[in-house]
Amino acid sequence: MYDNNMTPKERLKIPPQEMPEQDPVERINNVDEVPYGYTEELAMVEASRCLQCKNQPCMKGCPVEIDIPGFIKAIAEGNFRESVRIIKETNILPAISGRVCPQEEQCQRYCVVGKSHKSVEKAVQIGKLERFVADWEMINGEAGPTKIKKPTGKKVAIVGSGPAGLTAAAEVRRAGYGVTVFEALHKPGGVLIYGIPEFRLPKAIVMKEVENLKKMGVEMQYNRVIGKIFSVDELFEKGYDAVFIGTGAGLPNFLNLPGENLNGVYSANEFLTRANLMKAYSFPETDTPIARSTNVAVFGGGNVAMDSARTALRLGAENVYLVYRRSRKEMPARVEEVEHADAEGVQFLLLQNPVSLIGDENGWVKQVECIKMELGEPDDSGRRRPVPIEGSEFRIDIDTCIVAIGNSSNPLIPDTTPDIKINRWGNIIVDEETLKTSKKGVFAGGDIVLGAATVILAMGQGRKAAWAIKEYLETGQW
Ligand SMILES: Cc1cc2nc3c(=O)[nH]c(=O)nc-3n(C[C@H](O)[C@H](O)[C@H](O)COP(=O)(O)OP(=O)(O)OC[C@H]3O[C@@H](n4cnc5c(N)ncnc54)[C@H](O)[C@@H]3O)c2cc1C
Ligand code: SF4
Repeated sequence: MYDNNMTPKERLKIPPQEMPEQDPVERINNVDEVPYGYTEELAMVEASRCLQCKNQPCMKGCPVEIDIPGFIKAIAEGNFRESVRIIKETNILPAISGRVCPQEEQCQRYCVVGKSHKSVEKAVQIGKLERFVADWEMINGEAGPTKIKKPTGKKVAIVGSGPAGLTAAAEVRRAGYGVTVFEALHKPGGVLIYGIPEFRLPKAIVMKEVENLKKMGVEMQYNRVIGKIFSVDELFEKGYDAVFIGTGAGLPNFLNLPGENLNGVYSANEFLTRANLMKAYSFPETDTPIARSTNVAVFGGGNVAMDSARTALRLGAENVYLVYRRSRKEMPARVEEVEHADAEGVQFLLLQNPVSLIGDENGWVKQVECIKMELGEPDDSGRRRPVPIEGSEFRIDIDTCIVAIGNSSNPLIPDTTPDIKINRWGNIIVDEETLKTSKKGVFAGGDIVLGAATVILAMGQGRKAAWAIKEYLETGQW
């Protein structure tokens, strides 16, 4: 219970509450979620660490501006339903963001409790509390039906059902517009469903959130590749008054190494899509096979690399090497993911870089040649530039290689709609405030605008675009 008489000093003495999780030895043999989540008691103790700061610094770090002290206070008071209601005013997918948001770089980074302890890890565990209360709602029933304004008679097409598209769809629908989501794949969710693995984000959660949207009256159409079945212009001809493009960054980048075309070399996208979306981990009960590997090299140091490495372990690999050209400190992956990968036995080959892949007589990859690196002066990103150490090449035996060095924007829509302007990386150019593209009636947000970014930034843009769509449809002004 939130005890109003507790002093800030007393609150600061409460340690951060750990979330119970599956044992690493057991969990690499299943795809079940790793952390179990807080119990009601743990959540209430954690919530009572919050100082209820008047100036709400944590909210500054939240791209969707959740009333963080408000929802935490409701948890501390045991009023979980009210807590979810507060979150859902600005975030329709809390069970998802509570699990995958990089809170240590966002809300928790600004938390006064963390700052007092001089450690972001000791900040109020905002993400874990958000996840707790969202899961509580899933078990105990919704916080209340979403209010939909009376029909406007106008309709909006949303292209792509990732977090940007789903958020835009919900917000536009709330305002009384008809909404159709066109999704290229046979399931909704974008990266949430085909990229982020089950053990990090159970797919049932994503499907439940989509069910909520359908209950609000959002129409979902799958296997619809816009740019192939019909163009953006044809969407207008079909009677849509505005279009939101949230097609993400699904085009895998490669290193262009000699041997990258060998059999057994995957992009992380293909590997994770086979494993997650097509459930290759339960082949032959499911239709999609995946090569059973013994020694796997993963190239990269971000979330995608961690997900690939941890998935390879769960598919039975004996050795999974994560080859990264900088040191652990520079890894862009979330700290929690790096720690989980480490605990599960992923072998970090840091300050090392692949230079070529060597194949056998049948065209299958059998070795990777790497070179050792050292850190030089900082580059444009502010991180120290890795420099190869001459003559330090060495080889590792592998049978599978996963390239996880990032993704670029999908070019299909700009290619088929030339009046939508893109920048030199292929990202759609928008007005930052309104997310309007160069084409009248067309808005865009998420990774297709930002490049490969984060779930919450995609949701933030989906929300911003929805406001601008409403204004455009109300006033007719572009
Ligand atoms: C493996 C992996 C792990 C990640 N882990 C994290 C994490 O832990 N935390 C985090 O915050 N972020 C993470 N990210 C990044 C995050 O998932 C993305 O930033 C986010 O999903 C972007 O959302 P989006 O809606 O813009 O696009 P997406 O999620 O990519 O969704 C785009 C959707 O559009 C569909 N589409 C594409 N083209 C068309 C078309 N022509 N017609 C119809 N539909 C189309 C696609 O099929 C897809 O469903 C991860 C990314 C990957 C790949
Ligand atoms: S900054 Fe931290 S302590 Fe202050 S209101 Fe936000 S979560 Fe609570």
